[in-house]
Amino acid sequence: MADTDGPTTGELTPPDRTLMGPGPSDVHPRVLRAMSTPLVGHLDPAFVEIMDEVQELLRYAFRTENEWTIPVSGTGSAAMEAAIGNVVEPGDTVLVPTNGYFGGRMASMARRAGGGVVEVEAPWGEPLDPDAVADALATHDPDVFGFIHAETSTGVRQPAVPELTAAAHDHDALVIADCVTSIGGVELRVDDWGIDVAYAGPQKCLSCPPGASPLTLSDEAMEKVLSREEEVRSWYLDLSLLEGYWGEERSYHHTAPVSNVYALREALRLVAEEGIEARWERHERIAGALKAGVEGMGLEMNAPDDYWLPSLNAVRVPDGVEDGEVCAELLDRYDLEIASGLGDLEGEIFRIGCMGHSARPENVIYVVTALGDVLE
Ligand code: PLP
Repeated sequence: MADTDGPTTGELTPPDRTLMGPGPSDVHPRVLRAMSTPLVGHLDPAFVEIMDEVQELLRYAFRTENEWTIPVSGTGSAAMEAAIGNVVEPGDTVLVPTNGYFGGRMASMARRAGGGVVEVEAPWGEPLDPDAVADALATHDPDVFGFIHAETSTGVRQPAVPELTAAAHDHDALVIADCVTSIGGVELRVDDWGIDVAYAGPQKCLSCPPGASPLTLSDEAMEKVLSREEEVRSWYLDLSLLEGYWGEERSYHHTAPVSNVYALREALRLVAEEGIEARWERHERIAGALKAGVEGMGLEMNAPDDYWLPSLNAVRVPDGVEDGEVCAELLDRYDLEIASGLGDLEGEIFRIGCMGHSARPENVIYVVTALGDVLE
């Protein structure tokens, strides 16, 4: 073979999986179709109109009136870093939780932004206790308090959010909420709950491929961002620059991922058609059937009902079972993806997603039957 011959890579034929892991979830066919429609330029007047529509649909999904509501170009971590990197200024004190993997990522990003990190502790697998948050706020007087609304590593939903935000506001701290695994699947009310900044991911309960990730900021949070003394350390994620593209001007900042924005628009249109509250209810009902199914097999959920997260079901691995082998066998024999535990819960839980287009009765029947078979 001459060295100028190209590699003889075959046509792309990925396996046809059923995605019931921690994300991505099964993508709705309408979203896939939207993604394969022809591109227009990222400054084309037709695209500018699509941008407006996406912003309006995102406000609906977040339950917010925030003008500053955009899809960040990149995965959920890009929206997360945009939130933290803009809101946290060097020298700020940032209060973060210890009860899961993504609280740890929040701490790491806050440090890189120049913040001093302090922690409010809770074990992995439990939510934050509002009293512990109030104590930590009183002790550390942070500028920013971040928490994870839906902890994908533990299957825990943070209850009592309005209590947490009220306590933070009593101490003049801005609140950043990680809503990656809740948006479009679990009750989330950014404005009513007093959340100042929320970021999310498209690949979980919105059932959209990763690539354009929701972010919303209140006017007050944006005021802090726009009056920073030191410029944001990331050029790409600097919201004062992104304002030029997503704000009034619509001038070039970077080339938006046009196909991902199309996909997100369609995914959000599906949310609006279903109705946000009906969608939350569907996730609870379908994941409830999944929970009943695994409990019927004699398995145990890791989280009690009070803070069970319907979009991510943490199921305890039975004694004597090797979780990795079960996941591998499900993938191999059933083309079915579920995941093992991480960090403090490694080897202790299976993580079974029930998100968006994957939150359907046929998926639940499939996962319960396949899991029962593999565990036999
Ligand atoms: N936060 C939470 C709670 C997540 O579950 C994830 C991804 O799973 C992220 C942040 C990061 O998102 P991404 O992997 O899309 O960058």
